[in-house]
Amino acid sequence: MMSTAEYLESPAQAAERALALLVRGGGLSAAAVWGLSGVTWQRLASLGAADGLPSADALASGRLPGPDGGALALRMADNTVGWLVWRGQAPAEAADIAALLGGHLYCAALRGEQSAARLANETMLEISLLAGECASLDRLLPRLHKLMQRLMDASNFAIALYGDDGASLHFPFYVDRRDPAPPSPQAMLPLDDGHAALAAWLLRGGKPMVLTGERIAELCRDEKLAQPAVLPAFWMGAPLVNADGNPIGAVMLHAYEDQAALTSSEQLLFMFAARHVGFALDRVLYRSQLERQVWLRTCELEGANARLRAEVASRKQVEKFQNALFRIAELSNSSLSLEAFLSGLHRLLSEMVSARNCVVALYDKLSDRITFPYCADEYVEVLHPRKPAQGYIEQVLHSGRPLLVDPYSQVPAAVEDGGVKPQSWLGVPLYCDHELLGVLAVQSYDGEVSYNFRDQEVLEFVANNIGAALARVRALESLQQAYAELEQRVRERTSELDAVNAQLEFDSLHDPLTKLPNRNYFAKALHRAWEGFVAGSGDRFALLFIDLDRFKLVNDTLGHLAGDHLLFEAGARIRSCLRHYDFLARLGGDEFAVVMFGMQGPEDCEIIARRIVREFERPVILAGREVFSTASVGVVLADRDHYRNADELLRDADHAMYCTKQQGRQGYTLFSHQLRIDQADQLALETELRRALEEDKQLIPYYQPFIDAKTGKLSGFETLVRWQHPQRGLIPPALFLPMAEESGLINRLDRYMVNAACAQLQAWRAEGRVGEHISLHINLSSANFHDPDLVAWIGGRIAHYQLPPAMLHLEITESALIDQPETAATVMQALHGLGVKLALDDFGTGYSALSYLHRYRFDVLKIDQSFVFDLDRKEESAAIVRAILALARALDLDVVAEGVETAAQLAMLQEMGCSKLQGFYFAAPAPAHGLDWERLARFEQEIRSAA
Ligand code: C2E
Ligand code: CA
Ligand code: CA
Repeated sequence: MMSTAEYLESPAQAAERALALLVRGGGLSAAAVWGLSGVTWQRLASLGAADGLPSADALASGRLPGPDGGALALRMADNTVGWLVWRGQAPAEAADIAALLGGHLYCAALRGEQSAARLANETMLEISLLAGECASLDRLLPRLHKLMQRLMDASNFAIALYGDDGASLHFPFYVDRRDPAPPSPQAMLPLDDGHAALAAWLLRGGKPMVLTGERIAELCRDEKLAQPAVLPAFWMGAPLVNADGNPIGAVMLHAYEDQAALTSSEQLLFMFAARHVGFALDRVLYRSQLERQVWLRTCELEGANARLRAEVASRKQVEKFQNALFRIAELSNSSLSLEAFLSGLHRLLSEMVSARNCVVALYDKLSDRITFPYCADEYVEVLHPRKPAQGYIEQVLHSGRPLLVDPYSQVPAAVEDGGVKPQSWLGVPLYCDHELLGVLAVQSYDGEVSYNFRDQEVLEFVANNIGAALARVRALESLQQAYAELEQRVRERTSELDAVNAQLEFDSLHDPLTKLPNRNYFAKALHRAWEGFVAGSGDRFALLFIDLDRFKLVNDTLGHLAGDHLLFEAGARIRSCLRHYDFLARLGGDEFAVVMFGMQGPEDCEIIARRIVREFERPVILAGREVFSTASVGVVLADRDHYRNADELLRDADHAMYCTKQQGRQGYTLFSHQLRIDQADQLALETELRRALEEDKQLIPYYQPFIDAKTGKLSGFETLVRWQHPQRGLIPPALFLPMAEESGLINRLDRYMVNAACAQLQAWRAEGRVGEHISLHINLSSANFHDPDLVAWIGGRIAHYQLPPAMLHLEITESALIDQPETAATVMQALHGLGVKLALDDFGTGYSALSYLHRYRFDVLKIDQSFVFDLDRKEESAAIVRAILALARALDLDVVAEGVETAAQLAMLQEMGCSKLQGFYFAAPAPAHGLDWERLARFEQEIRSAA
């Protein structure tokens, strides 16, 4: 019978053996054994043409074999586990064999179920354990798939999981033998995607699902689901649920038509496994989510930490930069020079980078030169300005970009300044408003120090912030320079101004011509001297007043240049007579004054005054001519009894000088008490002259005759004034004419004389004493030329006395012509118009007589008595007289020689051909009633007999 070994045979082996036993009986043509495998019938063994035998299903449904065959159900404990079918005559023992085989198959089925259950159990356990063993889905899912493969044909297997949003699915695991484009594990697929649609539909349903191919097609049509790329014959899926019962995804399995459909127990197993898979995935997912969260938190924390660190670092950097910025600003404000600014900058830089050696280079585009306003270097003392060459600085200037040089950098070698190669060099451009100013560079000779990009950042920062400051400090510096220049200029101007002021001051106190102190200065010096004298602290002093005689004549006849020369010479001559401490000044015109200190008495003064007068006796050479310009000096000695102030001293010195002039010039007068009285007299005299002109006949015309030099006949008279003063007696004109000139009474006096002379002439004519050939000369002071009515008035007088105008001769001195040449010319022309004649008086004492003679129409020349005086003793005078006579002849002028006192003079003048003579030799001036007409008539005889 059946051994233990047989018992362990497989159902197929058992079925074959059973068929073999049956065949032994020999009645069978074909037989087959069917066994239940799961839920389907399986032909375990067959014999002969078994294909024609009814199937197990047909037998189970009661369709038994035909009459030529039979069938037996293989049963065990009411369970049909198989069928034995045959054709032909079955042996008697067929029932036993079937019973045995039934038992065997049942046992085998039980045994299969048992091992399948054990396998399922073990698998479920392993699935549960997977969660603990696998840290991630990537690890877990392939192993899960393997376990599923153990349980069933899971060659097309997929796990879908919800995305975080719950609105998409992804397939962390997906195997499909036929799918041409399986979804990637990460791809989040929308729920209507071709791959995701069935899973989504399944999840919507919330329960496991088993579908056939037709049903899927139907479903996709009805529910409008996207159809899978390749339609499977069989599809099965189950939702994956977490511990809380919420769906997290789905597990799916499908088979194509070439695969065996899954048995119901396999389907059950799948559903069962799905729950375990759900839990396992949930756990792994939860854990990985947890881990992810932890990781995320960690990352977040680390990120935050890093951010914080970076923030702290950047704040520190910002603080550092800001601090640097402040200090740069402060430096640029407080630095007075570029050098101070740059060395401050170097200190600042040293705190931020290793900057033992620091150079600031500036480039000047105009001159194309690099200058080095700052250089602090271990090896280089000073960097001289240069044209751009091959250095690192030039490279920075050229590129306009920072340059970092270290032993590893590929920078073209530069010509080092100073010849020592730096280990590391860092330079950055200096900009101000996009304009490249220069380079800021640091360098290190020390191998330990190598610059990096952080240093470059610092340097760039500093450079960026000093550009403007640099420009500012430079501007400041140039401003300071400009200020300094300005100050220098101001100093120069000030000193120029001082010089000008000094000059002005000098000018204000000095005479520009002689460089002597002027009147102002003199007044001050005089007052000081007076004050000192009065206070007793100063010397007794004397005051000299010097006036050049006939200066005006020199000035006007020889020209101002000659006048100036004379004044200059006069100043020098006076100076030469003084002690160095005497104070000499030019008061104006031809007036000089001296304060002489240390004068004890009049004698001291006189010594100096005499010296001065003598000094002027030498001629001065002016315009090639010898000119005698004498000096009239007035001296006054300071004295507390008679004077109250310095002005009074000056007044009296002036007066003393005036007295000198009155006494015939060229000399000095020491002011005395008597003079003071005289001075008072002068004032009284003026009042008296005024009265004399108005009232009585105190002013008496004297007449001095002219004698014709050839015939000795009387040819005319000169009218000369005399003042018959009631108390003082007869006063000569020299004593009151200057006063009359000064007081302006001279005009009235001259009119008085003209009137008196005319009246006398009329009387003489009436008496028959004079014929028309007699001329009556009347002196006319130059002051009369100011009188606009003069000509008309004279015309009136001539008419009044019915005189032939040509009998009247008006004598004019050169000074009248010099004072107002134009007026003089007009007046003289008008006088000529009246028909009167004009005589030039005192001819020869001026210097431009010739030009006067040409310019003005004179009729008569009167040779001054000074030439006649020594005519017979001095050849010089004779020469002058001879010249004057020749000139007069040439100009057809009549000539009168004045001051003829001797017979010798008379003879010489006759011999020289002078036409008329006047002088004491013939007659002194006498009043009309005192004229000795008979004596006058006698000259005719005298001269004729002398001839
Ligand atoms: P003068 O016009 O040169 O007058 C000639 C002066 O010489 C007169 O002085 C006369 O007396 C003086 N004299 C005449 N012959 C001789 C002589 O041989 N030897 C010397 N040594 N002197 C002689 P007098 O009269 O004292 O007049 C002085 C001056 O006063 C005049 O100089 C004249 O310039 C001026 N004068 C006189 N009368 C008048 C007048 O009525 N009107 C004006 N404006 N001036 C007058
Ligand atoms: Ca005269
Ligand atoms: Ca005269």
